[in-house]
Amino acid sequence: MAVVIDLLNGDQRKIADESRPRHPEKAHRPDQPIARKPDWIRVRAQGSAGWAQTSAIVKANKLVTVCEEARCPNIGECWEKKHATFMIMGDTCTRACAFCNVKTGLPGPLDADEPAHIGEAVAKLGLSHVVVTSVDRDDLDDGGAAHFAAVIAAIRAASPATTVEILTPDFLRKAGALERVVAAKPDVFNHNLETVPSKYLTVRPGARYFHSLRLLQKVKELDGEIFTKSGIMVGLGEERNEVLQLMDDLRSAEVDFLTIGQYLQPTRKHHPVEAFIPPETFRAYEAIAYAKGFALVSASPLTRSSHHAGEDFERLRAKRRGARV
Ligand code: SF4
Repeated sequence: MAVVIDLLNGDQRKIADESRPRHPEKAHRPDQPIARKPDWIRVRAQGSAGWAQTSAIVKANKLVTVCEEARCPNIGECWEKKHATFMIMGDTCTRACAFCNVKTGLPGPLDADEPAHIGEAVAKLGLSHVVVTSVDRDDLDDGGAAHFAAVIAAIRAASPATTVEILTPDFLRKAGALERVVAAKPDVFNHNLETVPSKYLTVRPGARYFHSLRLLQKVKELDGEIFTKSGIMVGLGEERNEVLQLMDDLRSAEVDFLTIGQYLQPTRKHHPVEAFIPPETFRAYEAIAYAKGFALVSASPLTRSSHHAGEDFERLRAKRRGARV
């Protein structure tokens, strides 16, 4: 899964859940101080009427959202517009990435009714575009590929006009899983590289950089109609040249859309923020990425994989048609 996590506002929110064993594998790690956020990282408050409606629909359908689980800084803005990103296959992840706030451990069995509930919620929210992600399910033979396909089918049945974007795990060592998901024909296939290769051992130890890259390349080989998308966090100690190399790697895999956002540390047990990257550096990354040939680039401190995903999908579609955007 590809989630950038955050304390909504480090000064106002209590350090997340350190009394609850959300991440037992991190309990022995030394505390890392949480740096104060710079002025350029500001988020919209929660509590608007739209936010309340989204929250009610999510609760009524017993759905899990990555917006809440990852403590996404954009939840006030997105939920006000009824944009929520659904997290399927439970709230417990079998990986233990150093940046992610999603609970880790052994997940329960899949909920066979979940695809129908997601379809129903998408129809009730009246979404023109929906993003569905999941926890990693290394415990399942197919990594959850069949469930992903069932969710896509259920959304198509309940809300045929809605376009579907998926943000998947890497399906490492799950033969045939990717093919099964691609056959369900999502409109956008997103898989985040998360960081540059030199940081994988400390940031994303359960994953393999070249496997993730190859996964994205294979999506295009299997179905050239599907838009591909990937994202990274910056501020984890990566070098500028490493980011530029990663862009080249993604273009070699024919990835269409790149997102770059600032990493924010969820708790004292997570990877520290090594740097707050200033907005002008994001603008420079965006310009370089366009020059390297991406059809669409979103790079800013609060960019997240699913932020403005609907509008961005329309821009991607327009570009493919050859329209100016
Ligand atoms: S950016 Fe994505 S994860 Fe964050 S609140 Fe918006 S939809 Fe949810």
